[in-house]
Amino acid sequence: MSSPLRPTRFAIDLDAVRHNIRMLSASAGGAELCVVVKADGYGHGAATVARAALDEGAGWLAVATVSEGEELRAAGLGAPILLLSEPPPGAARSLIRAGLTPTVYSTELADALAADGRQLDVHLKVDTGMGRVGAPMDQWAKLLEHVGGTGRLQVAGIWTHLARADEPGDPTTDLQLDRFDQALAVAADLGVEPAYVHAANSAATLTHPRSRHTMVRVGIAVYGLSPSRDVDARDHDLRPVGSLRTAVSHVKTIAAGQPVSYGHRWHAPADGWVATLPVGYADGVPRLLTNNAVVLHGGRRRPLVGTVTMDQVLVWFDDQPPANGDEVVLLGRQGSEEVRMEDWAERVGTITYEIATGISSRVSRAS
Ligand SMILES: *Cc1c(COP(=O)(O)O)cnc(C)c1O
Repeated sequence: MSSPLRPTRFAIDLDAVRHNIRMLSASAGGAELCVVVKADGYGHGAATVARAALDEGAGWLAVATVSEGEELRAAGLGAPILLLSEPPPGAARSLIRAGLTPTVYSTELADALAADGRQLDVHLKVDTGMGRVGAPMDQWAKLLEHVGGTGRLQVAGIWTHLARADEPGDPTTDLQLDRFDQALAVAADLGVEPAYVHAANSAATLTHPRSRHTMVRVGIAVYGLSPSRDVDARDHDLRPVGSLRTAVSHVKTIAAGQPVSYGHRWHAPADGWVATLPVGYADGVPRLLTNNAVVLHGGRRRPLVGTVTMDQVLVWFDDQPPANGDEVVLLGRQGSEEVRMEDWAERVGTITYEIATGISSRVSRAS
């Protein structure tokens, strides 16, 4: 439902979440699903998405920050929550209090966690080629020994992250998985053989069976969005979860040749009507969509015209005017037409992830 104060909303389809979880469970072939709900569930609402995913059989959640984990606990979610990167050592107490499962790749965090005095499950991360965080291969054995030496930390999981899984066929993925096998062998030699072994993100889960191990970390696919142009959500029967909807807030007639919006970057090609929508770049409509997008009204595609402004955009009607209050879909389906987030990403030169997480907190989430 839309708010009486403002019709602009990001409508969340929880049936689509459940459907996508079923599709991903099938792709994961028996591996457990860890649903990544960082950045407020890629902009879709972390707690709502998490609840639907757990209902459908997902076993784990993952977040990027301690606060994100605390918010899920405050919302009443009791499932295991993996923290995907190390917080500063000073956050050890807070993450333990929130019952989060930390990822560890430094001796500093290991020591800070062990200093709490209790037994704690941790997942260790090895860098097999992402080159971002994780213990380097040449320090992996040292980290395992250090963590074992604390006498407090149980290695419940070992994982790595793939740099090019969204380019199926790229040899980097197998190279990384080979190094991951070596890291697992080093751990096994030290007597560390955890239940949770994970490497796959969404793209790898969908396209690279070898990456699945005992758990997969799925984010973008849960939201029904494509990881890349080469891994299209539609090919895997995934359904978009979020749709960006609003309503016409103002309509005016416009004469041929008349310019609109900042910089007068569009002039009416004929006599017609321009409708205003109460949504702009502060809501997450990229300014690069200026004169470069379509919206849906009455089941038809209509062009966005003129510069995208902070709070409003304009739409051109050449044959008949819309009415104030008519529903307009910026992203999603209306009738038999659809605008996909992939389409926006392509137009502005980014990825679906950035469009989804860019839908700002000013937009109400409705499910
Ligand atoms: C965000 C993230 C994921 C999820 O990636 P998707 O491509 O959205 O499936 C998995 N693992 C790590 C470490 C991440 O940071």
